[in-house]
Amino acid sequence: MKRAMIDPDKCKNCDVCGVDEKCPQQAVIREAKADKPWVDFQLCRGCMKCKTYCVNGAVLEEIKPCNGGFSSSW
Ligand code: SF4
Ligand code: SF4
Repeated sequence: MKRAMIDPDKCKNCDVCGVDEKCPQQAVIREAKADKPWVDFQLCRGCMKCKTYCVNGAVLEEIKPCNGGFSSSW
């Protein structure tokens, strides 16, 4: 199961977040303008279109296997 994750260390907290604006599942959560956005894994469908939407390369791909553990691509 593939999901997107926004790396908080790479995210620059842009005024307008392309990932938040363009995600077709509206899976990106940003509760306040001062907060960095994050991806709700329940809503994300793993299309990874958001990799092209982030101008700072902050979107990472997570692989979540069926056994409930997870590994990351970093
Ligand atoms: S575009 Fe990328 S760096 Fe900018 S706020 Fe969104 S996720 Fe963070
Ligand atoms: S992988 Fe697709 S569904 Fe998930 S946050 Fe990125 S654009 Fe949205």
